[in-house]
Amino acid sequence: MDRGWGFLIGLLGAVWLLSSGHGEQQPPETAAQRCFCQVSGYLDDCTCDVETIDRFNNYRLFPRLQKLLESDYFRYYKVNLKRPCPFWNDISQCGRRDCAVKPCQSDEVPDGIKSASYKYSEEANNLIEECEQAERLGAVDESLSEETQKAVLQWTKHDDSSDNFCEADDIQSPDAEYVDLLLNPERYTGYKGPDAWKIWNVIYEENCFKPQTIKRPLNPLASGQGKLLTNTFYSWLEGLCVEKRAFYRLISGLHASINVHLSARYLLQETWLEKKWGHNITEFQQRFDGILTQGEGPRRLKNLYFLYLIELRALSKVLPFFERPDFQLFTGNKIQDEENKMLSFPLHFDENSFFAGDKKEAHKLKEDFRLHFRNISRIMDCVGCFKCRLWGKLQTQGLGTALKILFSEKLIANMPESGPSYEFHLTRQEIVSLFNAFGRISTSVKELENFRNLLQSIH
Ligand code: FAD
Repeated sequence: MDRGWGFLIGLLGAVWLLSSGHGEQQPPETAAQRCFCQVSGYLDDCTCDVETIDRFNNYRLFPRLQKLLESDYFRYYKVNLKRPCPFWNDISQCGRRDCAVKPCQSDEVPDGIKSASYKYSEEANNLIEECEQAERLGAVDESLSEETQKAVLQWTKHDDSSDNFCEADDIQSPDAEYVDLLLNPERYTGYKGPDAWKIWNVIYEENCFKPQTIKRPLNPLASGQGKLLTNTFYSWLEGLCVEKRAFYRLISGLHASINVHLSARYLLQETWLEKKWGHNITEFQQRFDGILTQGEGPRRLKNLYFLYLIELRALSKVLPFFERPDFQLFTGNKIQDEENKMLSFPLHFDENSFFAGDKKEAHKLKEDFRLHFRNISRIMDCVGCFKCRLWGKLQTQGLGTALKILFSEKLIANMPESGPSYEFHLTRQEIVSLFNAFGRISTSVKELENFRNLLQSIH
């Protein structure tokens, strides 16, 4: 376990070294790889290429991250699935068995975690009040394009808000319960049709800075689909400033990841004795094949990689916080806590360019960004399938935590090496959601390789 964690942290740095070796030969494509033929080479708004991420993730990071997420510290997540939807009343629970979430009995959760729902270490617990004052803006690194880097550095310069990007559940509420994530895996639930579309639609239509006149391509709730509509949408998107474009791409990446998971852990067969879960190639193709989706699928998969890079970047940025001597992944189990303690973090970044933009405008932009994202986290309470709601909440909280970190770079950099850190703080919930959310994206990237192999084998 100690090696799993320490190794993971060491690995997080490697992607940046790897990213400097981009531009390698791409493997030849076959007709069976139509989902992937456009998903190669450089990513828009980044200088990292897909092949580099694949190699790094699939063979180095993914296996270790999975191990880490199996540990007690990361598998128990406290969540309130009973919060009412703040936007509309007619929320129908789908009632499907595969949507059910089994909460933990109180004796299943380690005492240290239960008594420390807000804390990650005994010492840190004493500081919570002050530490909750915490966030500011952060940065991005050389694997994002120069334009993206500048934009995020601009946020760093001008923001001093201490608000979160997510509306966190009140985990002290009697309705909040611990869930063992390993026993409630994200997979196909059968949640679909107008109810699911409504959620996605509200997210894209009302929260991605999109004017009503611009229609999203292949939106099942919009009339008049077609090439013209697609062209209008993408030229609108390209015309946006990089932050707003990034916002759309993060959401689309999350959407793609959820849909990769449900295709990879699909209900293939059901008897009265057992259920068989596995890869459903047709489902995957319908969602991501370039031709079947009029080019949308490969774009969405690229957004998934974009999300991967942003979350990875946040994890590497927050390492100084984990390096602090008083930091502990506290479970109450002395041996495991000692093992979890981080050993070394060989990470260094070059951040030398600072962009001085219009202060007022940058502040407004970041505030908009934060409010839109908070709204999305609240929409998760309207998801009519508890399992989808659980993972939707966890992943939005994880992404919100990643954004909080990226917006707090200076605070993290200025943290004292030991002793209280009043400026920057992460709660246990944030840490658990950050790593699990990244674990989901990392698994999606790995699943793309599995689908690629499956598609090759049937042609
Ligand atoms: P949807 O995925 O519902 O998409 C609606 C429309 O959005 C599509 O027609 C397309 O035009 C567009 N679109 C699709 N993907 C993207 C993208 N990546 N970027 C931009 N636009 C896109 N189902 C499960 O089985 N298991 C789950 O765990 C699960 N979790 C969910 C969590 C949330 C928060 C939500 C809202 C839904 C969840 N679902 C889950 C449902 C699932 O995401 C789909 O909505 C459902 O399978 C129906 O798919 P669809 O093909 O009709 O299109």
